[in-house]
Amino acid sequence: MPPVRIDVHAAGAPYLVLIGRGLIATLPELLRDHGLTGEAIVVSCPPVWMRHGKALKAIAGRAGPTLIPDGERAKTLATVSKIYDAMIRRRLTLVAFGGGVVGDVAGFAAATYLRGVALVQVPTTLLSQVDSAVGGKVGVNLPAGKNLIGSFHAPSLVVCDPDVLRTLPAREFRAGLYEVVKYGVIASRPLFDRVSTRLADILKQDGAILSDLIADCCRIKARVVELDEREAGPRRVLNFGHTVGHALEAITKYRRFRHGEAVAWGMLAATSLSAARGLLSADDEAKLQDLIRRMGPLPVVNDLSARAALEVIRRDKKVVSGTLHFVLAREIGATAIASDVDPGEIAAAMRRLGMKA
Ligand code: NAD
Repeated sequence: MPPVRIDVHAAGAPYLVLIGRGLIATLPELLRDHGLTGEAIVVSCPPVWMRHGKALKAIAGRAGPTLIPDGERAKTLATVSKIYDAMIRRRLTLVAFGGGVVGDVAGFAAATYLRGVALVQVPTTLLSQVDSAVGGKVGVNLPAGKNLIGSFHAPSLVVCDPDVLRTLPAREFRAGLYEVVKYGVIASRPLFDRVSTRLADILKQDGAILSDLIADCCRIKARVVELDEREAGPRRVLNFGHTVGHALEAITKYRRFRHGEAVAWGMLAATSLSAARGLLSADDEAKLQDLIRRMGPLPVVNDLSARAALEVIRRDKKVVSGTLHFVLAREIGATAIASDVDPGEIAAAMRRLGMKA
């Protein structure tokens, strides 16, 4: 099967997303074909390099990869500085080979070193393949909060190989799958229905089924970011489920939920609020509830306070000039953005999830 090709018409320079099984083995040719012929620096993390590094050995060259610590704690300026050290005096393309953390932090180094060098995203988690590798958002955390430092730096190429997902822990895989469900809810009922009907096969992490899902999500994300690269308006739909989701992550100090799991709760809150407003049918609300339940267990929320979560929502960086733009579901496949959602409505929706007042 030839790889799926998706053109992203970014304002700065268009780029290509390639999706196909076994693609990482052909990376040296892919880089060459796309004019990325200079020396490359590969940034990765130990769990990914240990399992899949062999395929990128030739690209990493004699210097080998620049390995950063695993997980969210690596998303710091200190890590960026370590990547700069590896880049000094080399003509470069930076290849980010890992999940969303590697993509964000290496992407930020690529955005800022010499005011920007070429970036190739080779995402290795489902979340990064369907979401974070496309769109050009890069950044790191500060002790005061997540993703507080960042930039927009479109990649020159994105290469998604679903076969690398076989080694992903089941919980990480499911966390990414909630983002796939999000794409279904915001833009495609057929995608939502496919996840629902083929769930058992999808949960086996079979590359053959995953290629299509990844391609559908990347197409949706590409169309949304083309309309609004810097998140001034239409891109907000991508935040469906994220207002409550981010708040749940923050009040549990980022220790309880994988990002996608918090978004799953956030989507349940957003659909509950949409149904309470009479915007979404009870039938579509039940379909989302049923799918999320069948996908597997989520960390509990019944010991968490809706009031504490609301406090975080009030301080959210997405609240623009005091206005919260809340993404509601009109039906599975269509959203509406409301700027008149009352904190009381959000609190009530969270209580309906079982959260404490
Ligand atoms: P992650 O990068 O921490 O990866 C999750 C875990 O999976 C890690 O332990 C990693 O080592 C391991 N892993 C990765 N690929 C593997 C593989 N193929 N086999 C086995 N293990 C593997 O987490 P993530 O969920 O990919 O990304 C989360 C990050 O993405 C967050 O920092 C979030 O802010 C960011 N994000 C960015 C955007 C964006 O638009 N830039 C969008 C969404 C999320």
